[in-house]
Formats: sequence, structure tokens, C-alpha cells
Amino acid sequence: MAQRVAVSEAPAGSRRTSRVRVAVRLRPYMDTQDDKGEGPCVRGLGPQKLEIINWRNATETLQYQFDVFHGEETTQQEVFLTSVKPILPHILNGQNASVFAYGPTGAGKTHTMFGSQEEPGVIPRAVREVFNLVGAQEKSQDGWEYSVGMSYLEIYNEKVLDLLSPGSQDLPIREDKDRNILIPGLTHTPLSSFADFDTHFIPASLNRTTASTKLNQRSSRSHAILLIKVVKSRCGPPHRQQTGKLYLVDLAGSEDNRRTGNQGIRLKESGAINLSLFTLSKVVDALNTGAGGRVPYRDSKLTRLLQDSLGGSAHSVMITNIAPDYRYYFDTFSALNFAAKSKQIVNRPFVKETVLAPTIAHGKRSREEREAGGSVE
Ligand code: ADP
Ligand code: MG
Repeated sequence: MAQRVAVSEAPAGSRRTSRVRVAVRLRPYMDTQDDKGEGPCVRGLGPQKLEIINWRNATETLQYQFDVFHGEETTQQEVFLTSVKPILPHILNGQNASVFAYGPTGAGKTHTMFGSQEEPGVIPRAVREVFNLVGAQEKSQDGWEYSVGMSYLEIYNEKVLDLLSPGSQDLPIREDKDRNILIPGLTHTPLSSFADFDTHFIPASLNRTTASTKLNQRSSRSHAILLIKVVKSRCGPPHRQQTGKLYLVDLAGSEDNRRTGNQGIRLKESGAINLSLFTLSKVVDALNTGAGGRVPYRDSKLTRLLQDSLGGSAHSVMITNIAPDYRYYFDTFSALNFAAKSKQIVNRPFVKETVLAPTIAHGKRSREEREAGGSVE
């Protein structure tokens, strides 16, 4: 199903570059402003595909294919198990990984990454799992000692700010002789357990710079980046050491700010946010098309920071969050075009079917449709 490149299995010395795995998550329809009764404009078509109405011609839909499609009924646990858990063991082997939530404001990035007390997202689940994996290794007495630590930062207006040290200045991003990316001066907090993580992470999350836009009161204009580092050290001589890094990133909204009424300072922020997101899209594109050209990591702070954990020998997953409501249409459309492996125009009226079989609006398909369309989730 997935087209992951198992870099660990590549021949020694090979410079094979791994793809960024792309998942799309559709949040449930919840448009309270939908007085026209339009219903959703996007729906799932199975474990890898979805379709959206073609605005140029409403008798057609556009069908997109990804590595994974998470439909609106997908639970937090399912997203974690499918898209994130499989990459975590690599962190204990000195490899790097990154997980991003991409998409317009209001589409579910923060829900996916942070979640809530009742429905924890990728971040708490991944950190818990890292401690489980470390615990299991220690129990097996594999000859290594493990230590886990965290850093937490945001990129706001192309400035790198330490969320564990509020009020700190813009921090520099450097590369060492082994091509590891590091941020001198960034707080690194050792963690002894998941509970320990929570006590540092929750108050630090409140330090995030947020500002409201017309689209969403709780909209975030910054990229929030959590780094979990696992250092393993050989118990006896020779004293070898390996470091694995896991980046968990809640990206700023990908919406087109010309439509959110942003002005002045907000518009300046939008420009900077767009630089990082625009560069990220170019980097992902360069990695996934494997054109062999230059990957423009250095063109923004976000991609520069992630250079050693995105592509190369790293394991990366991008979860593109989208909303099915019409008012998100163009932002959804541009997010899908960024995320898609393939796109196809299909002659098949979307709106009419929604009217004839209202259950479709809730992610279920009629029997005729299932029979005609093959397997569904
Ligand atoms: P973003 O971070 O992309 O701006 P949020 O995560 O804040 O979006 O989501 C916007 C709203 O939608 C929130 O109230 C959130 O709880 C809700 N939401 C998002 N995704 C889901 C989902 N899969 N299931 C239920 N509610 C969701
Ligand atoms: Mg958010």
C-alpha cells in the first residue's frame, strides 16, 4: 500500500533519499454557517482516495490519491497507529524522523497533533510510545543505556523562539561537521517519564504566540516544533553513542491570506509564514519527485531546521488536514494539490448524489455505490 523507502535496507553508503509519506485527514463536517444547505464538498473513496467537486464544472469531481486517506470517522488512535507509530522504532536506532500537520486553519492540525484530554493526539501518543520502546529496550538489557529529552520551539516571522525559555531571542540554526542541524542555546530538558513530559509540555504550549484571524479565533500564525531526542550510549567500552531525533510539528495555517482580511502586521506575518510553507512544499516536492535536483532546505528557517530529519535517511510523514465545508474549498483544493500523488477528473455529479443518498454526507456510501466503486474502508 505505502510506497515507503526502507532506507535502513539500502546498501551501505547509498545516498538514497526517502520520500515523505503523505496522509490526508478529513475532519467531520461541522459548518454552522451553512445556511444554504450545501453540505460537504469532499468525501472519502476508500483508504487512499477522496474526491472533491470540481468548481469549474459541478458535474465533475476531482479524485486524488495519497499514501493514506483518513476519513472523517478516523479516530486519533487510528491516525497514530497508521501514520506515526511505525516510524518511532527508528529513533532508538540513531535515525531521525519528522511528523507534520499541514493544512488551512480550522481543518484539524492542532486536533491531530495535540488533541484534547479526552482524545489525545499524535504528540502525547508518540511520546508515550517512545518511553514504552525505551522501557522495553532497557528491560531486554541490550547493552545500551537510553536517555530521552525534549526541546520545544516555534518559528514565528522567520524567528526561532525557545518555548521552554519564554522571552528568549531569535536563535541561530547551525550545522556541525557531521551535517547534524543544531540550535546552540536552545533549552534541552531531560525527561524521565511521560508524566515528566506533560509537566514541561503543557505550560510551554501556552507560550505559543497566537493571534486571531477572521477565519478562526484560535488560529495559530506560527510553526510549533517539538523535538524529542533519544540518546543511546554503549554501557561498556568502546563508548559509542547514537542520537535519534523526532520532530513533531504543528504548522501554521496554509490558507491564502488574501481571503482572511489580514492587514498590517498580520500581512507581514503571512508573508513570512508563506515563505516557510512555500519552501516546505518545494522541499517535499523535490524529495517526492526524486528529480535529483537541489532540495532548497536553506531557503527558510523551517526547512533548514528540519534538514537532517526530512528526506535523506530520515522517516517523514506529512498529515494534511482538510475540512469538507464549502467555505474552505479553495484552501482545501490547494492543500490537496500539494499533497496528492495523482489527480484525476471524473465525470460524476457530486451534489446530486448527496441529495439522493444523504448518508453519503456522513461518510457512508450506498450499496450501489460500493458495488460500483470497489472496496471502501
Ligand atoms: P487547526 O489547528 O488546523 O486550525 P483545529 O485542530 O483547531 O484546526 O480544529 C478546528 C476545530 O475542529 C476544533 O474545534 C477541533 O476540535 C475540531 N476538529 C478538528 N478535527 C477534528 C476531528 N477529526 N474530529 C472532531 N473534531 C475535529
Ligand atoms: Mg491550530
